[in-house]
Amino acid sequence: MKILKFGGASISTSQNIINVANLLCDNTRKVVVLSAMSGTTNTLVEISNYLYRKNSDAANEIIIQLEQKYLSCLSELYKNPVYIAQAQAMIQERFDIIRAYTKDLFTLFEERVILAQGELISSALVYFLLQERGINAVLLPALDFMRTDKNAEPDPIYIKEKLSKMIEPHADVSLFITQGYICRNAYGEIDNLQRGGSDYTASLIGAALGAEEIQIWTDIDGMHNNDPRFVSGTKPVRNLQFEEAAELAYFGAKILHPTCILPAKLNNIPVRLLNTAEPQSLGTLISNKMDKGNIKAVAAKDGITVIKIKSGRMLLAHGFLRKVFEIFESYATPIDMVATSEVGISVSIDNCKHLSEIIDDLKKYGTVSVDSDMTIICVVGDLASENIGFESKVIASLKETPIRMISYGGSNYNISFLIQTKYKIKALQNMNTELF
Ligand code: ASP
Ligand code: MG
Repeated sequence: MKILKFGGASISTSQNIINVANLLCDNTRKVVVLSAMSGTTNTLVEISNYLYRKNSDAANEIIIQLEQKYLSCLSELYKNPVYIAQAQAMIQERFDIIRAYTKDLFTLFEERVILAQGELISSALVYFLLQERGINAVLLPALDFMRTDKNAEPDPIYIKEKLSKMIEPHADVSLFITQGYICRNAYGEIDNLQRGGSDYTASLIGAALGAEEIQIWTDIDGMHNNDPRFVSGTKPVRNLQFEEAAELAYFGAKILHPTCILPAKLNNIPVRLLNTAEPQSLGTLISNKMDKGNIKAVAAKDGITVIKIKSGRMLLAHGFLRKVFEIFESYATPIDMVATSEVGISVSIDNCKHLSEIIDDLKKYGTVSVDSDMTIICVVGDLASENIGFESKVIASLKETPIRMISYGGSNYNISFLIQTKYKIKALQNMNTELF
């Protein structure tokens, strides 16, 4: 069994949906995980934001536009009027659900139902297209098997049990379709796996079914060795180890959601990143295999804030780090990078929601300074300490860049640098010439 996940960009138009349907028609057994058509979830968020602010007129206007967008692609998608009518009815039903929430109290509960509609619509559209072509496919409703527990973490035992039971009666079927992103929570309510969560769905399904491979289909030829938006001549990286991919996914390479890595790694299921526009391309294969002695890629993550706490005597004053970290924990704010010295500690965060409270609390322990508009540059590869010379090579490539913080040794796969965002593009370009 293979799991194939298609992102919003891969199904952004009728023609793209048709291309995806064409890709599915070999006879290998597979579960296909679909995102919402591109832009849909953003629009559903926008609708919800208007409804939170009780602006139902503005919400309704966007609802009508989105509904029209869907209705207008049907005549290109289906040849048979019966399927056009069936899809029309499905779309109307979905938008009636959205509209039903424009009238009353709007809470997180209603928002989650609205956010779920994008995947419910796209999966039905693809399923109808396969039916029109006479392909024997089965639609597996994600809301019947994808589930989170009381800590909002996926419940792998439940998912495995449910999904296996749903697939079991269909021994003769080789194509299963389901929705990414959406799930039910521990209370049985409609919920989701957070934005970009369809990759996670694919990986959880792969783990539940012991799949031979998880494929993530997007609109780029795998993970590149540098950011193609800022650097020309970047190349796809053909092989990545799970840890390398996790660092890259977390620190900026948008192509894969970081949550997708762990279930695949734990179950030793390779993840292949492929391009819908060029299905023959090799893409990137992520597995437990390490390419020895190579620097693989760099990625950059913007929107970072760095907080420095200076205390007269830090290291001798035991318990100092714990107190500092506890403050971040109490505001549910994850820390990305850390650097310590005898007189102080610098940490970086990307979630500034509670920044002012955090600063107020930190002031009890020393002098606090804050810099925003920072970027983490992350270098990934076989960077174990035995590989002499890699660190100096990387640092030499940044000789023109003012560096604020360095983190090395946290893993064998990564060195991170914190710089001001204004130096990012030049830094990425210089690294490209010197490292690859
Ligand atoms: N449609 C959802 C989003 O845009 C999930 C996904 O595409 O992975 O966040
Ligand atoms: Mg995505």
